[in-house]
Amino acid sequence: MRFSELTGNRDSAARLKERIRQGTSFHAYLIDGPDGIGKRRLAYTAAQALMCENPREGEPCGECPACRKVAGGNHADLHYITTDGSSIKDEQIEGIQGILFAKPFDGDHTILIIDKADTMTPRAQNRLLKTLEEPAGSVRVFLLTEKRSDILPTIVSRSVVIRLKPVEAEEIRQFLIREHGASEKDAEIAAACSAGCPGRAVRLLQDEDFRQRRERSIACARALAEAESLPEFMQTLGEDLGDKEEALAFLDLVLSWYRDLLLLDLNAGSGIMNRDRTEELARAGKKVSRKQILQTMEELEKAKQDIMMNANKGYVIRNMYLKIRG
Ligand SMILES: [Zn+2]
Repeated sequence: MRFSELTGNRDSAARLKERIRQGTSFHAYLIDGPDGIGKRRLAYTAAQALMCENPREGEPCGECPACRKVAGGNHADLHYITTDGSSIKDEQIEGIQGILFAKPFDGDHTILIIDKADTMTPRAQNRLLKTLEEPAGSVRVFLLTEKRSDILPTIVSRSVVIRLKPVEAEEIRQFLIREHGASEKDAEIAAACSAGCPGRAVRLLQDEDFRQRRERSIACARALAEAESLPEFMQTLGEDLGDKEEALAFLDLVLSWYRDLLLLDLNAGSGIMNRDRTEELARAGKKVSRKQILQTMEELEKAKQDIMMNANKGYVIRNMYLKIRG
């Protein structure tokens, strides 16, 4: 993988590449962004660039033994840590400390990638901080976070912060076709529903139930405005919404439909998610006012909150319908 081949966030990738090329790379980088945005991909590309035996203008060659070992996850100087259960514990950082203070085994750098670094316990963070305060010259640490605010300010201030932003759906669509052999239609849908995160789009593409769930969510979105009664709505909704995560993902899909209706109402159709359904959206849009759209979005958000707090899903959904249509 090369910096220039990453999907989206070109500026961030180019800046990181430039630092590595000039040899001015910092000891610690904090790569922050939502799940599936490409944090790991960027960190591994940087690791390859740092380890590569024949880098070209800051890009890893991808072919030398070092590049291959990084890609295969078996480079002796590359260490990867992620959550053990729900958090990264002090012992995990302690376990790696000795390696960070020792000389690299194989090359010029010792690289530590801490995935889900925002789940480090306070003790683990304090231990890591000590390492960052007196870093060995050869050490590079990549902290990958979804919630940067959970990292100690003293760690953040010692890191170069790289914020990864959502990627254009069109770029994700092309990436899915190019690298995952997706059909035009599948790529379009997965890209549209990925909230700008390439990794999420790939997961959707591989999820056989996704298409079915999406159809159901659109039927549900329409029924929220058009069903004649609660029983009719519940019938359209169909069986159980699955576990908490599945129910939240489902409501997100329903929300995306209303967000699209709002965008169309505001004449901002270029940003819509359900791009393969524009005709149906236009028809549905004629049946609801802007006020109704906004109210429905608000109730959907409330329903998500309630489900997040473990309220009974069936009750939350019924209640939501009655509030919207009551
Ligand atoms: Zn190489």
